[in-house]
Amino acid sequence: MRTQVGIVGAGPAGLLLSHLLHLQGVDSVVLEMHTRDYIEARVRAGVLEQGTVDVLDASGLGTRMHQAGMVHDGVELRFDRSHHRIDFRKLTGGRSIMLYGQQEVVKDLVSARLAAGGDLRFEVSGVQLDDIDTDSPVIGFQQGGGNHELQCDFIAGCDGFHGVSRDCIPPSKLTTYQRDYPFGWLGILASAPPSAEELVYTYTDRGFALLSMRSPQVSRLYLQVEPTEDIANWSDSQIWDELHTRLATDDGWSLTEGPILEKGITAMRSFVVEPMRYGRLFLAGDAAHIVPPTGAKGMNLAIADVGVLAEAFADWYRTGSDKGLDSYSSTALRRVWRAQHFSWWMTSMLHRFNDNDPYQAQLQLSQLRYTATSPAAAASLAENYVGLPQTRMS
Ligand SMILES: Cc1cc2nc3c(=O)[nH]c(=O)nc-3n(C[C@H](O)[C@H](O)[C@H](O)COP(=O)(O)OP(=O)(O)OC[C@H]3O[C@@H](n4cnc5c(N)ncnc54)[C@H](O)[C@@H]3O)c2cc1C
Repeated sequence: MRTQVGIVGAGPAGLLLSHLLHLQGVDSVVLEMHTRDYIEARVRAGVLEQGTVDVLDASGLGTRMHQAGMVHDGVELRFDRSHHRIDFRKLTGGRSIMLYGQQEVVKDLVSARLAAGGDLRFEVSGVQLDDIDTDSPVIGFQQGGGNHELQCDFIAGCDGFHGVSRDCIPPSKLTTYQRDYPFGWLGILASAPPSAEELVYTYTDRGFALLSMRSPQVSRLYLQVEPTEDIANWSDSQIWDELHTRLATDDGWSLTEGPILEKGITAMRSFVVEPMRYGRLFLAGDAAHIVPPTGAKGMNLAIADVGVLAEAFADWYRTGSDKGLDSYSSTALRRVWRAQHFSWWMTSMLHRFNDNDPYQAQLQLSQLRYTATSPAAAASLAENYVGLPQTRMS
């Protein structure tokens, strides 16, 4: 088997890369370890930056998103039991965000690829990358009981944080940056109408809470918990009680409950490897970097990476120029580091740290009050949250 770009992983990064390459007349094959049903039902991120919405629109993927997604013009910071709105539209010259689940983006991408005759292979195993430092890299894999080899011009490692691609690069060629946070997020998906029109980021002395939503009927809520917490220790009624306590305000606002459809605990980590390329292997999305979800950047970064990468591949096929491929890593990393800082900053401002240091808590409250009352500070949060302009190939 032969293709131009072999793509490992059918998450947002791998699927969008395949779609963008197809639009530029470049062939690809996507290899995914899970079933189509599994990836289309996997609930993860849900906040799309304005630039992500623009990329999906420009590549013909916006129809369902505009029907089912919810445009939000701001978020709320909640502390001292009161509401403080950050108005994105006013502070960023008219930009906003879209609430549309990652699994819906994945469904749109899978159906677009299949409608165009794209080669998506599900339930592959044993993926192995060879000859990545030559001009003809190969992906070995198993499917349907047989061993296969896919010869490629390039390989895109879009297989997430736990994938195999990153580990194929000799450790001496990579620099790794990492920070683990002393807390995790307990997240629930509940069949309950959202109790606020926009996302609510809450700081309390019991820890962080986030009220988010996936549709007018489905709420997504999170609680800061210990990183090693076992979800079995939390009954549904305990989760709702803690959400009521942390989200309470002095003005009679109330939280609507409903049956919990899904619950789980996610560790919080920041991670980057540099460079995002070795030979003919290019890393994109979570395979190269992850952020704590506080800044809602994970999927947006994956989409921004492959926008740059698709352009670089297309340019190579069109003109033979290596320029875009050579600058891919540094171009993508500029955006990655901005999002790393923003995600770390939001996380540090909004969570309680283990040591319960009263000085630290006062600094956090001061930062929250400043962000809520200074137009300059609020504009900084807003401009980062809606996302900086998409980077082009340089
Ligand atoms: C539990 C969870 C909750 C999250 N919540 C949020 C959130 O609320 N907000 C936010 O902004 N971000 C969130 N994120 C992050 C966001 O979902 C990711 O940043 C985004 O999925 C990155 O897309 P990706 O395509 O790079 O990687 P992924 O979506 O991880 O896709 C990688 C794909 O590669 C496949 N794969 C892996 N290894 C192999 C292999 N060896 N062979 C073949 N296929 C392989 C995987 O099955 C997967 O389909 C969350 C992540 C997780 C794990």
